[in-house]
Amino acid sequence: MRVIRSVKTMQRLVSQARRQGKRVGFVPTMGALHEGHLSLMRRCRRENDLTVVSIFVNPAQFGPTEDFKAYPRPVKADQRLAGKAGVDILFYPSDKEMYPDPYRTYIEVEKMTENLCGKFRPGHFKGVATVVGKLLNIVQPDVLYLGQKDAQQAVVLKQMVRDLNFPVTVKVCPIVRGPDGAALSSRNVYLTPQERRQAAVLFRSLQEAKEKIQSGERSLAAVVQGIRRRILKETSGKIDYVACVNAQTLEPLSCVDGKILIALAVRFGSTRLIDNILVQVR
Ligand code: AMP
Repeated sequence: MRVIRSVKTMQRLVSQARRQGKRVGFVPTMGALHEGHLSLMRRCRRENDLTVVSIFVNPAQFGPTEDFKAYPRPVKADQRLAGKAGVDILFYPSDKEMYPDPYRTYIEVEKMTENLCGKFRPGHFKGVATVVGKLLNIVQPDVLYLGQKDAQQAVVLKQMVRDLNFPVTVKVCPIVRGPDGAALSSRNVYLTPQERRQAAVLFRSLQEAKEKIQSGERSLAAVVQGIRRRILKETSGKIDYVACVNAQTLEPLSCVDGKILIALAVRFGSTRLIDNILVQVR
């Protein structure tokens, strides 16, 4: 595995590969790699000739009171894991390389960034869209792999790719969970053992909601209430939001129909966890 720190070198290597007719797959991450990230990398490797992974803790997507400085950066372990997963190129740029001074250009996806996490993390999706837009120009992949774990991010980035005509196919991969059902997250390391146990309640409450809808529940308010009640009863978490929305557009639902995304964000101390589940109705 080659570790590349410069944008120019990255662009040159990938241009060479493309000239040789290689299909390039790309997995952007912020590192602190776990099985969730690795599942994306393995799929990328199966489906492409060249697998590029980026590790970049993107300052532009963190709010001023968020955990940018504290975000875990286990560089050595990450390199080992990426190597083992069969990654060909690890792109690992510095902040200066990605945002040379002065930096003036941002990408903003409208509307679908205003609700769910967007409401609680102003500017977050502007930072995400900007960095992924830049990374797509640097890596020039044929296929971009994203996780369903960050459901809103996946919808927003698909919209960006469509609106700005990035020549890339977006593939969204299933959420990888721990044995207790909790979604794997780089932020789980911040949790106390007690909070880590409670984190599994998020998934259980989502599963229960899905089962309710599948057994005929047609009141979304009741579904949301059920989830909120269970989380408040069984955990010490503070709920940012629980919402049922259209899975493709993230718009509010007027009735229980089509592909529904039930998404939530819950804070344990200063650690914010997100999770979601998809329900297909008819
Ligand atoms: P991050 O490093 O948190 O920015 O995540 C990088 C990519 O990995 C994003 O596309 C995430 O959605 C995806 N990802 C993170 N956690 C998981 C998980 N538990 N299962 C599947 N994909 C994940």
